[in-house]
Amino acid sequence: MTTKPGGGRQLAVRLKTAKKRTTSQQKWLERQLNDPYVARARKEGWRSRAAFKLIEIDDRMKLLKPGQRVVDLGAAPGGWLQVAAKRIGLDKGQGKIVGIDLLAIDPVPGVDFIQGDFTDDHAAEQLKSLLGGEADVVLSDMAANAMGHKKTDHLKIVYLAELAIHFAREVLAPGGLFLCKVLQGGTEGALLADLKRDFTTVKHIKPRASRQDSSELYVLATGFRGRDQSPAEA
Ligand code: SAM
Repeated sequence: MTTKPGGGRQLAVRLKTAKKRTTSQQKWLERQLNDPYVARARKEGWRSRAAFKLIEIDDRMKLLKPGQRVVDLGAAPGGWLQVAAKRIGLDKGQGKIVGIDLLAIDPVPGVDFIQGDFTDDHAAEQLKSLLGGEADVVLSDMAANAMGHKKTDHLKIVYLAELAIHFAREVLAPGGLFLCKVLQGGTEGALLADLKRDFTTVKHIKPRASRQDSSELYVLATGFRGRDQSPAEA
């Protein structure tokens, strides 16, 4: 038996081994089938279980507000886009959302989406021109495919987080916020120092929907100080 996010209980699904699946594929599939957030996402119409991470963070921190301008990095399959669209009132013509991912997505009404690599030279400019102005919120749930080599996987996610911070600094309006997936220990040193210099508040959040056995967590930086800081202020 496993516990549902609402507190109820459900039967665990165990798969018979299939010849074509590797052990890790088998484990992943069993975990998906037994994951209460996956079932809840399907039932409630969210495209990913990741949607619950943003819902939980936003319910707690009250980040998303009607009319905001949002950029979502690593947006596929679109769970965060759906949550953000709902909370900023995109369906009522309020706000703006621009997303990017390596993977294609089914369109989310009102969202401008680029299928491409955020690490490409032109990606940041493309996002900025679609946005047509400054952003209030930069979200990044980007994660490169895990290689299974802990150190390499860690370096890759730190690299994506660094690029995302750089982009956030270029595009955010003063007072704006940045929420980014990192790994435990990944926002120490230079990364954290950068954020603390540019934002008034920086904290780490591990939502319940983030698997407890994963080292994933989110760094939330609010109150962007703006690009025109004097060296003394910086
Ligand atoms: N927040 C999403 C949602 O709610 O549906 C889930 C995002 S998923 C955890 C991470 C995504 O980051 C993947 O879809 C992956 O393709 C994307 N990604 C990884 N590296 C990227 C890159 N260099 N450029 C754009 N997207 C990238």
